[in-house]
Amino acid sequence: MSNLMLLLGLLNFALCYGLEFRYHNTTEVEEYLKAVHRNYSSFTHLHSIGKSVEGRDLWVLVLGKSPTEHTIGIPEFKYVGNMHGNEVVGRVVLLQLIDHLTQGYLSDPQVTRLLNSTRVHILVSMNPDGFEASTRGCVYSEGRFNKHGMDLNRNFPDAFQGNMDMAREVEVQAVMDWLQTEPFVLSANLHGGAVVASYPYDNSNEGSELQSGSSVSPDDDVFIHLAKTYSFTHKSMHNGNSCYDLKNFKDGITNGFNWYPLKGGMQDYNYIWDQCLELTLELSCCKYPPETDLPGLWEDNKQALLAYMQLVHLGVKGQVLDSRGTPVKNAIVEVQGRNNLCPFKTDRNGEFYRLLLPGNYTFKVSEGTFSERCTAFKVDEESRSITQVSPLTMTSSSTWPRPTHSHTRACITVTAVTT
Ligand SMILES: [Zn+2]
Repeated sequence: MSNLMLLLGLLNFALCYGLEFRYHNTTEVEEYLKAVHRNYSSFTHLHSIGKSVEGRDLWVLVLGKSPTEHTIGIPEFKYVGNMHGNEVVGRVVLLQLIDHLTQGYLSDPQVTRLLNSTRVHILVSMNPDGFEASTRGCVYSEGRFNKHGMDLNRNFPDAFQGNMDMAREVEVQAVMDWLQTEPFVLSANLHGGAVVASYPYDNSNEGSELQSGSSVSPDDDVFIHLAKTYSFTHKSMHNGNSCYDLKNFKDGITNGFNWYPLKGGMQDYNYIWDQCLELTLELSCCKYPPETDLPGLWEDNKQALLAYMQLVHLGVKGQVLDSRGTPVKNAIVEVQGRNNLCPFKTDRNGEFYRLLLPGNYTFKVSEGTFSERCTAFKVDEESRSITQVSPLTMTSSSTWPRPTHSHTRACITVTAVTT
């Protein structure tokens, strides 16, 4: 039997009996993802978002009822693993997650509900060159950086300290381009070397966001909820145990800047520039642990990974339509009291998604010369089904000019969803 035949045979075995708990190299991951897509083609889609410096594909597996394209009302979620090539636990648990989701769709109610209502994108390794160059070790090992010796989590545009003249690495550019193609709502970036859920901001220019050593975003309450959901669903993260000489993290969460300031990070970029709320999840004290630890690490994270994905349905989603019912793209949708550095805008379908905790909110929607304040509404904790509150009656207020634009009678359709 040729090596390829043997590999395919082993992969098919893996698909039937669960994925082996060991480290799979880049070629094996690629073959595994292709086999998954072949076996589950009705609800998966496999594509490469670009190539690494050494020419390895950055494969993304998409899972959902409509895997090849966005569906209006279905939020887009993503997980990214192995951005630091020597932090390998994220890569392993994402492969296990793919195994769990594909095996469970249409048989496991939790998985079926999730994939029927969410489109999930998984980039198992953002830095395959780094992984291939990495050596096993807990604290420091080769392979953190890409082939150019660059730290990919310091290479994104930074809103606080301009680094626009910095050359973007191909792996970073591929992710930036990917963000333009899908209206991502929520994501997580999986790392190792600590056990904590870290949330934006990672950086600050010492403006009003800097509060008691933290760099506080307008959506701080939401981020804390996201981080705590992960840490308390995780087997031990919420205990806040330190690794080595690291500090204790209360409830297993931390503001990124409060832990240590970081310029050019991916989570701030996602949140500030792409309106996708992102956490950095540190999954293990040891960056590259022995293979015998892998089953336990998967069990520690399994329910947390699933629970976190479900949070993409938190809050409010809706569509901005003009008087003819045509979706209005690039309309600014602001929640009063949350002054995002880059205002959230509707996507090409006029959609918006705002993750919010239960409470009362007022939205302001504006586009061109049209500006209107919508009536307040409530995100109800008890409501588990989609509640139509449409169309909202818009109040005419002296604060806001009467609309004069062709979108005079534009209206906002708001759907309140909590899970
Ligand atoms: Zn890392």
